[in-house]
Amino acid sequence: MSKEQLYDCIIIGAGPGGLQGAIHLARCNRKVLLVDQGGGRTKLANDIVNYLGIPAIDGFELTRIGFLQARSFGVTVKSKTTVTRVVKAADLFKVETGTDSYSARYLITASDAKDILPQLKNLRRFLGKGFYTSVASDGHRTKDTELLVMGDNLDAVRLALSMKKMYTDRVVLLLEDITLPGEFLDILVDHLITVIRGNPVELLGQNQLTGILLADGRSLSCQTIMADYGCRLNDDYLKNLPLERDRDNFRIMADHTGESSVPGLFVTGGLRTDHDLTIIAAGQGATAAIEINTRLLEL
Ligand SMILES: Cc1cc2nc3c(=O)[nH]c(=O)nc-3n(C[C@H](O)[C@H](O)[C@H](O)COP(=O)(O)OP(=O)(O)OC[C@H]3O[C@@H](n4cnc5c(N)ncnc54)[C@H](O)[C@@H]3O)c2cc1C
Repeated sequence: MSKEQLYDCIIIGAGPGGLQGAIHLARCNRKVLLVDQGGGRTKLANDIVNYLGIPAIDGFELTRIGFLQARSFGVTVKSKTTVTRVVKAADLFKVETGTDSYSARYLITASDAKDILPQLKNLRRFLGKGFYTSVASDGHRTKDTELLVMGDNLDAVRLALSMKKMYTDRVVLLLEDITLPGEFLDILVDHLITVIRGNPVELLGQNQLTGILLADGRSLSCQTIMADYGCRLNDDYLKNLPLERDRDNFRIMADHTGESSVPGLFVTGGLRTDHDLTIIAAGQGATAAIEINTRLLEL
């Protein structure tokens, strides 16, 4: 391995988690490689209003500024590059990208997750502008609106109840292909939540969401939609590592510093069992970086 390809830390993913980790480590004068394939959830968030000190920012702009900050502190960036595999031999991680490989003693995996979205005509038009997938990020935008909650599993029932308790009295629950246990139906009736069954095919409206069209031709009127179809982790490259996961064998378990059950491998953002929020991903990146720098000082 050439000296150029040995780093103190390799960071996979340049959203807020990876960028914040890179900025912290580079400020500690560490040799940091940031590998990123492009895209990511932050870039889809077009109106982040819950980041301390910034009243409102487009996620694209936030990451663009983050890149500039990271580069200004000397982080090496490999953009448009996908990590395909990580292996650990002795106490070094080898990160493979298909064409190249790089090594480091520490790794921050900040590649996050992808929301599973239903196949709906006009979804891009309304994603983040009427059609939402996260209560923590966007629940407040549904306040006092005519809200449709939709999903393909029982979590949608819990979501409908929370939305009713937190934001609006006008909640309709649209369920696809699920049989509801009787006790769930009773609770929904008690909370005056109407349940409709059907397969949604198209979002309606020009500049503003006005409703949803079902496959059988019915249309339901609504001003906002909160949808829960789960997510997929961007973790294919980690599959051969013995990472401890949650009880659904899904998200990666990490301690308070972000270190996983594989020593030296730290995790941020949606790969972890915590909340999916920009400020939390950034905080986790900083925490992991500080811990890694402390370990490097101990070597
Ligand atoms: C529509 C929408 C609106 C949202 N609104 C808000 C909001 O208002 N407020 C809020 O706090 N949160 C919001 N969120 C959630 C928030 O965007 C995320 O939880 C958080 O910003 C994720 O940051 P991250 O750094 O973990 O990951 P991301 O920003 O998803 O970045 C992950 C990076 O990893 C890269 N990557 C993935 N796999 C690989 C690989 N194999 N090799 C190399 N690179 C890889 C991707 O290219 C990407 O750049 C929203 C999310 C969505 C989808």
